[in-house]
Amino acid sequence: MDHFLYRDGSLHAEDVPLAEIAASVGTPFYVYSTATLTRHFRLFDEALAPMPHLVCYAMKAASNQAILKTLADLGAGMDVVSGGEYARAIAAGVPGERIVFSGVGKTRIEMHAALSAGIRQFNVESEPEMRALNEVAQSLGVKAPIAIRVNPDVDARTHAKIATGKSENKFGIPISRARAVYAEAATLPGLDVIGIDVHIGSQLTELAPYRTAFEKIAELTDALRADGHDIRRLDLGGGLGIPYTQDNQAPPLPLEYGNLIKEILGDKGCEIEIEPGRLVVGNAGLLVAQVIYVKSGEDRDFLILDAAMNDLLRPAMYDAHHDIVPVIQPAPGTERQPYDVVGPVCESGDTFAKARRLTPLAAGDLVGFRSAGAYGAVMASEYNSRPLIPEVLVNGDQFAVIRPRPSFDEMIKRDTLPPWL
Ligand SMILES: *Cc1c(COP(=O)(O)O)cnc(C)c1O
Repeated sequence: MDHFLYRDGSLHAEDVPLAEIAASVGTPFYVYSTATLTRHFRLFDEALAPMPHLVCYAMKAASNQAILKTLADLGAGMDVVSGGEYARAIAAGVPGERIVFSGVGKTRIEMHAALSAGIRQFNVESEPEMRALNEVAQSLGVKAPIAIRVNPDVDARTHAKIATGKSENKFGIPISRARAVYAEAATLPGLDVIGIDVHIGSQLTELAPYRTAFEKIAELTDALRADGHDIRRLDLGGGLGIPYTQDNQAPPLPLEYGNLIKEILGDKGCEIEIEPGRLVVGNAGLLVAQVIYVKSGEDRDFLILDAAMNDLLRPAMYDAHHDIVPVIQPAPGTERQPYDVVGPVCESGDTFAKARRLTPLAAGDLVGFRSAGAYGAVMASEYNSRPLIPEVLVNGDQFAVIRPRPSFDEMIKRDTLPPWL
């Protein structure tokens, strides 16, 4: 559930009419609901009670400082995958002991920065990375706390571009080699081996792949303990899916996911970490755009919007579906007609939806793309020299711009001319 509902015939974000925000900041823009963010974070937090746990928000889903601060104030940890994300977590006031550093290609510079300013744990994804981290930690005279990401060879049954837990994926160490790698880790003086990490993919819509993965982690925990490792923390990754349409089968709830974790891993005496991204912020965000033109096509009309693939890449990148809703509520019983919904970018891939059945729309009308909070603004680019669009946060009857729209000048001034021009 979210907090984008019609009230008095117009779509609101919590208590604020979207049309009011559009009039104030212009279109297109992203808007997020504090109440939805808060609710989703709490659902995970409560689902893991009473086990000792930390919910580390995977900020790659949406990393605006205001979103991070909202979640950090609720007690969230952060899962980061780059030096830039680490810096964002610190800037949002998240203490190092609540930051987990994931990702397959951490550089020595990133390791150095995190070890210097404080880090809860590195999720190590390969042996060369493990050896590099050992050297960096030793050069600083510290021990780096690590979990090793194992690849359980489980099919997450999700889109190929976001499945990460099969042996052919680039992520983690094959679970069959885990004991050997842990044995080497234990000999490295710059490392403190504290746990196991697993993350099998994103937008999972069933629990079965998690069950298979967690059972393998339970077995591995016992095996590693028998080998003498003090496994005291299990990081189970993120990936729980969200409903992108109103009619498809709803993915499992955080509570069911939490119960599964309790059932399979609850008796290990470990602290549990999870790293949800999409489910925390996905349905907490909307992309609002305006219709520029309605163009008649051979078979159907094109709805040409002022938002494009550079603003919301998911449809072009993952064939993703986003529900598109008019900001002014259509009268009950209004007939729908098929539209191809497109942006102005010079690529045929700049298509948000084909033959989408919508109530009639005209130039100037506002539409919202639902479920655009995750992997939306963060994947945006300035392709076609379209400045990054603003982000707005709503809280009850208040709203604030949390990232302003840059002017053309500001965009152009980031380029610098070489001395010979
Ligand atoms: C992307 C990612 C997540 C978050 O995935 P969601 O599907 O957004 O919940 C968590 N952990 C790791 C390591 C990731 O790469």
